[in-house]
Amino acid sequence: MAGMGQSPRGGSGGGMGDWLRENKSFVMAAGAGLLLIVSVGFGLKALMSGSPASDVAKSSRYRTLVDSETNDVFKEFKIPEGSKWPLKNPKTGTLSLYPAEACYWTTDGKYKEKPTWVFLRAYTQGLDAKTVCPDCGRPVVGHNPMPPVEIMLEAARAKGKG
Ligand SMILES: [Zn+2]
Repeated sequence: MAGMGQSPRGGSGGGMGDWLRENKSFVMAAGAGLLLIVSVGFGLKALMSGSPASDVAKSSRYRTLVDSETNDVFKEFKIPEGSKWPLKNPKTGTLSLYPAEACYWTTDGKYKEKPTWVFLRAYTQGLDAKTVCPDCGRPVVGHNPMPPVEIMLEAARAKGKG
């Protein structure tokens, strides 16, 4: 009869903890890389959802819209198939809803997660009409760009610290 096969304890120890200590910089770099990918993803998403196309059907079915007269914002507004811009404001019954542009800047030049939704004057006043964000005063254009990646990373770091 053999024994109960007691396995020897201890021995290799350390393991993951040592690996993490030795590779700390690698882990941090990987984290930053991931953050970068996420940011770029957000940027792409913003680009793809921001087409002031005349063909509504081709763009996504849900858009954030803004009323050119009242500046009311309709988030994730369901766009009926085959409709043309501007869409009808369900509150006022007026044909005055346009795709809203998102401004992610704070007044002091930082990134904010919840954008200010802005109506582009160019929709009703011609392509030369300039629009500035009513919140931060920066110019807003069609397919309004996100703040640079460094600024978004800085905001993410600040958030991480609490
Ligand atoms: Zn702004």
